[in-house]
Amino acid sequence: MNRVRLLVLNAALGPLDYRVPEGMVVEPGSVVLAPLGPRQIVGVVWDEDRLEATSVPDSKLRPLVGLLPVPPLPPELRRLVEWTADYYCAAPASVARMVLSSGGALKGPATMTEYRLSGVEPQRMTPQRAVALDSLQGEQATLRELAGIAGVSEGVLRGLANAGALEPVIVDCDRPFPRADPHHAVPVLNPEQQEAADIFIAAIKQGGFTPFLLDGVTGSGKTEVYFEGIAAALEESRQVLVLLPEIALTEAFLKRFEERFGTQPVTWHSSLKSTERRRAWRAIASGEAQVVVGARSALFLPYAKLGLIVVDEAHEVSFKQDEGVRYNARDVAVMRGRFAQIPVILASATPALESLQMADSGTYKRIELAARYGGAQLPDVSVIDLRADPPPRGRWLAPQLVTEMEARAERGEQTLLFLNRRGYAPLTLCRHCGYRFQCPNCSAWLVEHRFSQRLACHHCGHEVPPPPACPECGTEDCLVACGPGVERIADEVTELMPEARVAVATSDTLNTPERAAEFIAMAEAKAIDVIVGTQLVTKGFHFPELTLVGVVDADLGLEGGDLRAAERTYQQIAQVAGRAGRGTKPGEVLIQTRHPEAPVIAALAAGDRDAFYEAETEARREAGAPPFGRWAAIIVSSEDEAEARDAARAIGGKRPDVPDIAILGPAPAPLALLRGRYRYRLLINARRTARLQDVIRQWLAQFQLPNSVRVSVDIDPYSFV
Ligand code: ADP
Ligand code: ZN
Repeated sequence: MNRVRLLVLNAALGPLDYRVPEGMVVEPGSVVLAPLGPRQIVGVVWDEDRLEATSVPDSKLRPLVGLLPVPPLPPELRRLVEWTADYYCAAPASVARMVLSSGGALKGPATMTEYRLSGVEPQRMTPQRAVALDSLQGEQATLRELAGIAGVSEGVLRGLANAGALEPVIVDCDRPFPRADPHHAVPVLNPEQQEAADIFIAAIKQGGFTPFLLDGVTGSGKTEVYFEGIAAALEESRQVLVLLPEIALTEAFLKRFEERFGTQPVTWHSSLKSTERRRAWRAIASGEAQVVVGARSALFLPYAKLGLIVVDEAHEVSFKQDEGVRYNARDVAVMRGRFAQIPVILASATPALESLQMADSGTYKRIELAARYGGAQLPDVSVIDLRADPPPRGRWLAPQLVTEMEARAERGEQTLLFLNRRGYAPLTLCRHCGYRFQCPNCSAWLVEHRFSQRLACHHCGHEVPPPPACPECGTEDCLVACGPGVERIADEVTELMPEARVAVATSDTLNTPERAAEFIAMAEAKAIDVIVGTQLVTKGFHFPELTLVGVVDADLGLEGGDLRAAERTYQQIAQVAGRAGRGTKPGEVLIQTRHPEAPVIAALAAGDRDAFYEAETEARREAGAPPFGRWAAIIVSSEDEAEARDAARAIGGKRPDVPDIAILGPAPAPLALLRGRYRYRLLINARRTARLQDVIRQWLAQFQLPNSVRVSVDIDPYSFV
C-alpha cells in the first residue's frame, strides 16, 4: 500500500493521509496537490512518524492529484519547520506556509509578456503618448510596470501596443540572475579584520555548525569581514542568506554588495511583486540564487545548498515577528544553521544580552573587532542635563546642542538629531475643553503628521485629517500639539538655523527603496546639513561628514518599564552615536536627559559598555528574566470586551500548578484595545529548567473557545504591550 502523510497548508486541519496513485513517485518533502472535499489543497509529504497518526483505513484513502514541479523540501528544512512550530507553539501548517510563500513558484516554469519600444511612431500622437514614448526609452517590463515608470495609465500603453509602437517580448519568468563574483573587488583587510575573516573562511570551507558572534564596534568593518565569508561560500558554490532588520537599510547594502561582488544579490521582502517573488523562490530552490538578502521571512525559504547565514544588526528588535507565527529570526537562524550544519554569523556592535551570554558560555564563538577601521576614533559622548541647561519654553533643543550644531554648519559638517517618534506631535488636544484625540480602534493617541496633514494611529493605520473644530466642544481652531516628534524638531531647527538644509528620515519619508536611495545620495553629496531621524537612521548609514549626533530625549525609551527598556536604550543610543565621526574628522555625541545618573546614561557617557552589561546582567538575574529565566505571554482577544475577559478568566482559572513556572494575570493588556480587539494578557515567568511549551500546550488544549476569540502564545516576547 502506497500511503503517505501530508502536512497541509491549513492550520485548521491536522495531518491527512492519502494514497499515491500508480505512476506517481513521491518522497518525503515532495510538494503535492491533494483532494479535500470538492477542493484541491497543497501539502507536503512528511516523514510519517513525525506527525500525529491518523485513523483512516487504507481502503478509504483518496489518491493524490499531482506532484508540483518544485524540488522536494530537504530534511533540514522539514526539521526547521517542526522545531519552529514546536518551540513557538504554532501550527506546523502556519510555518510551512512561510516556506511555500509563492503560489506562482509552485506552478512551475512560466513565461510572461513584457513590452519595449519598437521604434515605430504611432499614427496618432497625444500628450500622454508622447510622455510614454519619451520616458520608456531603454525600458522593458510588463504594461503595468511600464505604466508606473511612465506615469500614464495602462490604457494609454495598451493603445500604443495596438498601434505597434510597443512590441511584445516573451520572457522566461525564471530567467537567471546575474552572477556574483567573489574576486570582483577584493578589499585589503587590516590585520584584525583579516584574522576574523580567516576564521570565517575556514569555518565555511570546512562546513559544520558553528555559531559566531561578530562583536565589533561601529565602523570596525564587520560588513567588510563577513563579505569575505560570503566570498568563500561563493567559491564553494554554496548559497548565502543575509538577514537585515529593515528594508530601508537594504538600499545602502545592495550598493555596497554590488561594489564588492559586481552585481546585486537576490532580495526577499514583503513588498516584492508576485513575479519577482516566484523568480526568487525558484532560484533559491534550484540553487541558482547565490546570495539572498532579506527580511526575516527569507529564513524559511527552501535553499538548495545553503552554506552560510549572516544576521546583521543581530540585536535588532525587528527580527522578532509579532503576529502569526511569533518567532525570533535571530534564534531561528541559529537553529537553521544547526539543522543544515553550516556556520551562522550574528553581527552587532551592541549584542543582545542573550547573545553575549551565549558567547560567554562558549556556545557561540566570539570574534571581536575592537577598533574602527582606518584609525577613525569612536566619538566623544557627553550628557546635557536638561534640568541645568533647559531649552526655552516650547522648544526641545538645549542651548549647548544648538551651539554645537551651528558650529558644524559653519564648518560644512553634518548633524544627526535622533528622536524615536514619528510625526509632528505624539498627542493632540483641544485647548478649550482638554479633549484628546484617540484612535477609535486602539487604546492609543492619534499622532499628528504635518507633512501629510493627518492624525494617524501608529498601531492600526487609522487616519483622519485634523478637524477644523473640536469634536467634543465645537470650538474652532483650538487644537494644540503636545510634545515633539521628528517633524517638530525639524521645524525647530529651521527656525534656529534658517540656512540649514534639514531632512526628516523616518519610515514615513523613506518608505520606498527609491526614496531611501535618494536620501543616501543627498546626504553623501552634502546636500543635507541636519538629519532628524527615528531608529531608522541609527544603523547601517555611513556619512563621513557627519560629526555631531544629538539625542533629543534619552529618557523616552526608559519610560514604560519594559523588561528590555534599559538594554534597548543602550543599543539605540550606542548605535546612533556610532554614526558620528566615521570618516577622518572626530565625532561628538550629546545626550539630552533629565536623568544623567541613570546607569545606562552613565555607561554611555563613560563609554563603558562592560559596566552597562554587567549591571544589566545582574538585574536580569535577580528578576529571573532572560537569559536566566524565560518569559511567555498569552494574549486573549475578541471584538467583544466581555467575551475576551471571560475567555481570559476561564484560561486563568485553570492555570497549571507547576513549581518552576509562575503565572501572572489575566489583566487587561497595556494596549487594551488594538485594531478593534479587546485584549487580556497572562504573563508567564519560568525557570530555564521548566518545560514551558509543553505546559502551555496542555493548558490551552482544554478549551473550546468560540471562533471570535483568538488566543495567541508569544514565547520569548519582546513586546509587553
Ligand atoms: P561596521 O559594519 O562594523 O559598522 P563597515 O563594514 O560598515 O563597519 O565599515 C565601516 C567603513 O569602513 C565602511 O565605509 C567600509 O567600507 C570601510 N572599511 C572597513 N574596512 C575596510 C577595509 N579593509 N578596506 C577599505 N574600507 C574599509
Ligand atoms: Zn489604531
